[in-house]
Amino acid sequence: MTARWTKDRPPSLQKFMAAFPDDDACASYLERKRWPDGFVCPACMSVRGWKLESKRWTYECRDCGRQTSVTAGTIMHRTRLPLRTWFIATHLVTTHSNGISALQLQAKLGIGSYGSAWFLLHRLRKAMVDPERSTLEGIVEIDESSFVYRTKGEPEGGGQGRSPIAKMPIVGAVELREGRYPARIRLEPIKDFRHGTLHSFVMRNTVKGSSIWTDGNSAYAYVRDREHVPRVVKGKKAHELMPWIHRVFSNLKRFAMGVYHGFRRKYLQAYLDEFTFRWNRRRHYRVSFDALLGIGMVVGPVPLKVLTAS
Ligand SMILES: [Zn+2]
Repeated sequence: MTARWTKDRPPSLQKFMAAFPDDDACASYLERKRWPDGFVCPACMSVRGWKLESKRWTYECRDCGRQTSVTAGTIMHRTRLPLRTWFIATHLVTTHSNGISALQLQAKLGIGSYGSAWFLLHRLRKAMVDPERSTLEGIVEIDESSFVYRTKGEPEGGGQGRSPIAKMPIVGAVELREGRYPARIRLEPIKDFRHGTLHSFVMRNTVKGSSIWTDGNSAYAYVRDREHVPRVVKGKKAHELMPWIHRVFSNLKRFAMGVYHGFRRKYLQAYLDEFTFRWNRRRHYRVSFDALLGIGMVVGPVPLKVLTAS
């Protein structure tokens, strides 16, 4: 992906490990994120409470008696894996620009079972779906593409010179800041390329008054409350007139081939969510790290400014 971490560079793995030498250090990090100004009871908002001696990383409210763990609301809550394992896995997943497989994660973390590594990764991937995501605005490049997928047992990148293999259609959008710089993206699998399907995508993913730039596909014509701008110039190719959505599609293909050795229909939505997460936060290591651990859920959604600033 382009221009990663221009604002917020991640520490080296060595530095990261030194910053989090044990589970207590990880718990302290969670505590500082959760209660930057000291303990606040989530039940009654009282600021009076104490840390329990008998229960790790847990506060008890002096007024209502409610006990709250520093891991409550994060993806680490009630898992048996050490907090440090979660932290290191999250660091690796965040910093690998093309993602990481469960097998690679298992090897890097030195954890015994593939199952644990898979579970960890699965939870982190789930955290990549942002429930608070807002709609794109301003100029938005929109285009469709299709991806050859492989079924179980199919060789990688299958399809060439073979009987025709099914393709999965998707639609994508890139928001342009100041009309030029790519900001946030959206990607969705679609059932067809019809007018109704594409309009529905535009309506759900852009705000009223947006300018929808397309390659001239008439299926986008007359989209409600938005301006349709067909980007067609004689002698110019589509990827010159809409460079960013083409960049997104080609990066997405590389991403799928690199980590997953090709798309599988069953996981398409998950690939798209992961790719979108990585793209939208590509310049912000700390935001990505916290969001994956689920710390964002505790301290509130990431402000739009943070996501799109560069
Ligand atoms: Zn309370």
